[in-house]
Amino acid sequence: FKIPAIDNEPMRSYAPGSVERKALEAAIAEMEQQLPFEVPCIVNGKEVRTGKIAKQPLPHDHARHLCTYHEADEATVASAIEGALAAKAEWESLPWNDRAAIFLKAADLVSGKYRYKLLAATILGQGKNAWQAEIDAAAEFADFLRFGVKFVEELYAQQPSKNAPGAWNRVEYRALEGFVLAVSPFNFTAIGGNLPGTPALVGNVVVWKPSPAATYSNYLIQKIFAEAGVPAGVIQFTPGPPAEVVAQAINNRNFAALHFTGSTFIFKKLWKDISANLDLYKGYPRIVGETGGKNFHLVHKSADIRNAVIQTIRGAFEYQGQKCSALSRLYVSASVWNAGFKDQLLSEIAKIKIGAPTDFSNFMGPVMRVLSKPHIFGRPAYDKIIGYIQKAKDAGGEVLIGGTGDDSKGYFIQPTVILSKDPKSVTLVEEIFGPVITVSLYEDEDYEKTLDIIDSTTDYALTGAIFAADRKALLTATNRLRNSAGNVYYNDKCTGAVVGQQPFGGGRASGTNDKAGSISIFYRFVSARSIKENF
Ligand code: GLU
Repeated sequence: FKIPAIDNEPMRSYAPGSVERKALEAAIAEMEQQLPFEVPCIVNGKEVRTGKIAKQPLPHDHARHLCTYHEADEATVASAIEGALAAKAEWESLPWNDRAAIFLKAADLVSGKYRYKLLAATILGQGKNAWQAEIDAAAEFADFLRFGVKFVEELYAQQPSKNAPGAWNRVEYRALEGFVLAVSPFNFTAIGGNLPGTPALVGNVVVWKPSPAATYSNYLIQKIFAEAGVPAGVIQFTPGPPAEVVAQAINNRNFAALHFTGSTFIFKKLWKDISANLDLYKGYPRIVGETGGKNFHLVHKSADIRNAVIQTIRGAFEYQGQKCSALSRLYVSASVWNAGFKDQLLSEIAKIKIGAPTDFSNFMGPVMRVLSKPHIFGRPAYDKIIGYIQKAKDAGGEVLIGGTGDDSKGYFIQPTVILSKDPKSVTLVEEIFGPVITVSLYEDEDYEKTLDIIDSTTDYALTGAIFAADRKALLTATNRLRNSAGNVYYNDKCTGAVVGQQPFGGGRASGTNDKAGSISIFYRFVSARSIKENF
């Protein structure tokens, strides 16, 4: 068995009149005709209907629902854990070739048969436009699966470099003892698939709690895994209610790891709950989390203004700023700001079209929800974002463009730019998770001071970008901002890490920095055994 050459999934352009545009439009129309779908839990390969019904609304049209789903109750979670543990021995002892083949097949189902369906579910349910959905549900998801196989192949090849005479050493990378709990977010369908997929690929069994706001696309992922050959019980699909499902899993003796993407607040809470249970567990659980950011662009006086403007708009407003990596604080040289940056930024933003993500001409769509209030979709995120704009205004911030929203049909917020004179103003410090950026201007001679401000303003350290033609300015910033971001970009936006190209993740309050899309993360889900044999 030799794994095929692995490459990034080519992205489709959905140009007007193209075959792929027509196919995606047809998939969306068909899904709109059929909704709402009914989504069961999937435990041990069987559909479980608990009768505890919750709904996933369309964020651009909140009177309609993409699906109603059965929330996992206590008995369902208990049988999910038990069934996963029962499925473990056979799954982890399957030859690596077979597990790899299953995941490569899943990647082909994502990029082929299910592509438009996954995209349609992501567009309707998670408010992404076609291109944002393509980057995520088609390209990144297929990449996670295919590159995952390549990374695990490399991981298993890591063997001791020496054998003493008459002896033979090897290392075996075993799955963790127990089960993994995967808790995934709404904002990337690909992360929905990757959080259970990564641990499962190295032989673990997983209880998966998807985000309530991504239920339908994540349910399709579960079906893809099954169709590709992931055996019943290996990945258990147990949607909501978040607090209960998660608590039941981490209160179990066989809990072995948490694979999480979501808010810092919830991640810290789970970490504390897990710590309180240490005496209960068989081992020390692995805790892997990616938890938000307060990401920056820094524009130096030597920057190419046009490029910095375009990347700023893309980093801030694609998917309405609801990526953990999205741009949120913008530090610009006052000379560059006045030499055209401001005018170009505002005139380009004024052209942005916002509306239903099913309309291909819209650059922006609706905002989603926040985790702190389970079961209330859309409105809390909308209110929170509008609330931040108000707070900035109250503190003397000037709204240069946007600042308003309309939640009558869907949850729409205008792309918003706030200018603040106070480098510690609330919208430069706290995560907003919406289409709002705050600009802080600096004098050219204060470049190095600004680096200190960038480093010390927030608790987060996920992504950042530096725009400069002057190499020295790039290097000075890179050195000073050593711990301020896990992903740094030169002259490019701070979003859009590509699997296999830019391992993704941050430190400080942004996460454990285990780097999704790289070999590193797989080490967290195996427990090595050294075997020495004398002969
Ligand atoms: N990997 C994505 C990016 O680089 C962000 C993922 C996230 O929002 O969690 O833009």
